[in-house]
Amino acid sequence: MKKLFRIQERTGQEPAHPKKACVRKQASASAIKKLAFILPLLVVVLLSHAQDTSRSRRLPIIDVHMHAMKVNPAFAADMCPWFLKDMPGGDPNQPAPSFLNISCADPLKAAKTDKEMQDAVIGTMKRLNMTGIAYGDPAIIRNWQKAFPGRIIPGIGVSNPKQMSVAAFRDSLASGFYKVMGEVAPQYEGLSPSDTSLDAYFAIAEQLNIPVGIHMGTGGNGMANITSPKYRASLGNPFLLEDMLARHPKLKIWVMHAGYPMADEMIALMGANAYVYVDLAGFIWSYPLEEIHDYIRRLVQAGFGKRILYGTDLLVWPKLIETSIGVIENANYLSFEQKRDILFNNAVRFFRLDESKFK
Ligand SMILES: [Zn+2]
Repeated sequence: MKKLFRIQERTGQEPAHPKKACVRKQASASAIKKLAFILPLLVVVLLSHAQDTSRSRRLPIIDVHMHAMKVNPAFAADMCPWFLKDMPGGDPNQPAPSFLNISCADPLKAAKTDKEMQDAVIGTMKRLNMTGIAYGDPAIIRNWQKAFPGRIIPGIGVSNPKQMSVAAFRDSLASGFYKVMGEVAPQYEGLSPSDTSLDAYFAIAEQLNIPVGIHMGTGGNGMANITSPKYRASLGNPFLLEDMLARHPKLKIWVMHAGYPMADEMIALMGANAYVYVDLAGFIWSYPLEEIHDYIRRLVQAGFGKRILYGTDLLVWPKLIETSIGVIENANYLSFEQKRDILFNNAVRFFRLDESKFK
């Protein structure tokens, strides 16, 4: 709108001939009269147009990484985005550093009840014209689906064969409720994604044409020695996917958290495997902002702008959605088209969705 109303500047050149200057003055006087007549009409037209566009929908966004969990008030702490920008010094003989921090001016508020979470999340999704792929509690996922029909796509993950038998996993997918396999997070279980104990699950996803999201990289501060003892940074190396991908040539996978911070390995893996995508979930609101932009810029610069999916890694803070989308919208190194690819087009292609349903 600013551009529309910007007054065009004159060139400042004097007219070459006085008569011509006079004609111009007369012409501009009549132009002003006409303008005085037209202007109110123009304002009316513009105002009615503005009302129309405010009613029309925003450009669609697909969030490929939402956790739909029961809210546990005991763990519903507020959180400062990009809290890992200043990881605390520590000593094993001292109390463990807290995983999050709230030492910022305006921490994101955690929802205290399932209803509060659902109302805030679905309200935001409707306002921003979003569709989400959600993992977690089936009852919560069904409630969200009821509140926003057609816009919540359920996913189910297996990270360790002890969680679910292969037969139960096949039944879950065959029921038709789940459309995606995720979040698969063997890294937290001390397993490589190519571990043969997970192979039968991936075989089912391949057979049923179900896309798979696998957690690789990230983890925050002290994941291995404070939070999840089986977690290993080395098990987030994107190269560990290679054997599994070779065994399942029709499997469609995306690397959740884009293998952060292993950009070289991620780029090499995507180069070698033409159907591997990544999502930006989680690390875009937890690690230092400049670091995040460097990482995204690096992936795009390496030529993979068509293989990056937007994801929030939504947990208990509803405002995380807007915070994370803002990171992409404010990325001045991305063109409008590149942002649209990340926020929508790439997910439509990857998940084989019908684009017309989301407009
Ligand atoms: Zn994850």
